[in-house]
Amino acid sequence: MSEKLIIDEIENNKEEYIDFLSTLIKSDSINPPGNEKNVAIEIEKYLKEMNINCEIFPFGDNRANLIAYLHKDFEGRNLLFNGHMDVVPPGSEEDWKYPPLSAFIKRKKTMHGRGTTDMKGGLAAMVISLKILKKLGLEISGNLILNAVADEETGGLYGTHWCLENVLKPKSIKCDFAVIGEPSGINPLPKAIFLGEKGHLLLKIVTNGISCHSSVPFLGKNAIYMMSDIIQNLDKLEEYVPKVEPPMSESKMKELICSAFPSKEIFERIFNEQPLLKNVVISLTQFTKSLNMINGGIKENVIPDKCEAKIDFRLLPGQTPTEIIENVKKVIMEIGYDVKDEPKGNPEDVFVYIEPFNASEASYWKEWEKSNDVKDFYNVVERIYKKKPFYFLLPACADAHYYRNSGYCPATILFGPGSAETAHAINEYIEIEDFINSIKVYALFAYNFLK
Ligand SMILES: [Zn+2]
Repeated sequence: MSEKLIIDEIENNKEEYIDFLSTLIKSDSINPPGNEKNVAIEIEKYLKEMNINCEIFPFGDNRANLIAYLHKDFEGRNLLFNGHMDVVPPGSEEDWKYPPLSAFIKRKKTMHGRGTTDMKGGLAAMVISLKILKKLGLEISGNLILNAVADEETGGLYGTHWCLENVLKPKSIKCDFAVIGEPSGINPLPKAIFLGEKGHLLLKIVTNGISCHSSVPFLGKNAIYMMSDIIQNLDKLEEYVPKVEPPMSESKMKELICSAFPSKEIFERIFNEQPLLKNVVISLTQFTKSLNMINGGIKENVIPDKCEAKIDFRLLPGQTPTEIIENVKKVIMEIGYDVKDEPKGNPEDVFVYIEPFNASEASYWKEWEKSNDVKDFYNVVERIYKKKPFYFLLPACADAHYYRNSGYCPATILFGPGSAETAHAINEYIEIEDFINSIKVYALFAYNFLK
């Protein structure tokens, strides 16, 4: 009966929820620089109307994290919702069909703007589900906690990590199950429930040579040639990187996706016609690297003394960014170059400087197959979306590793409205029906989990 109460409540208040999402989209929280406090204030306003406990933790210049909960008792079974408030920059506004902060609604079907999918849609749905549980006054035993965080798009150290170390752990707010509301649609597939994520490491490598007139090239040391040496030897890294089993084999992943399809034949056809899906599956089973930026030289007749490259490494659970950095150094030193942690040297110094500028660990919830909670979540998604979802791994990285790898809450999943391919893209949008469905999923699951 209470389930019907929740669904009716949501059906009767759709306009209010759409308004709230549109308020969050219009609150500028483009990161960098962040300004997440703009969003935190709106969430607090919305929750305070219902007298829900809500605390903002400001930091830096107009930045903030926020924690809210149903009541002050954390002794029972706790469910944690996590959503990030920051969004990536929109790029050039002229390229957008509707301005990125306009939250323009088209034919009552879609809302457009930066963050609609990644992930103010999921965040708003989580905030709203907290309000619904409080408003309906349903009898529950555990606690529902909402953590709205800053800084996810730039690594999460000041967001999820900070909240974990400075609020959740010190206040003994334990967590039995966590949902991060990242968009989990992968068109044209049904919704995914993510159980793990890859790690990443962005590394800057700068070769420092000696500049001179290029009519006497042997007088100097060409930094572009040095970089070329490194690039040609980079595959050696595969020998040194720790060998780990991928969390799931290719066949296991195919089996999981297939279970959401009406038949194996239909799945095989779609899988083979979809280069994206196939490649996602392959990349989820291995360590990958890609050199994506290179910059060197100042003039056509000057031997360059500097060349800079940026490489994107993607890691499996069990491979740490620190290990990868050490092994990159090893490869470079084997070629015969000095490696320094300092960017500056004397003009006559020949060396290579390495700087990691973004890193996060991979993570995976190993015990998921034994959990009834994740099965309940799956069933709620199937009921609401009227399609079987599928369990999967996230090829990108999110904040889940902070919860899983620290042991705080291994049972962390990612699920949210929106489709991955519009995240970070120009003309980002969300389908309103998807947004409303996600409110139903979060509220019903929370009620079932806590009752
Ligand atoms: Zn996100």
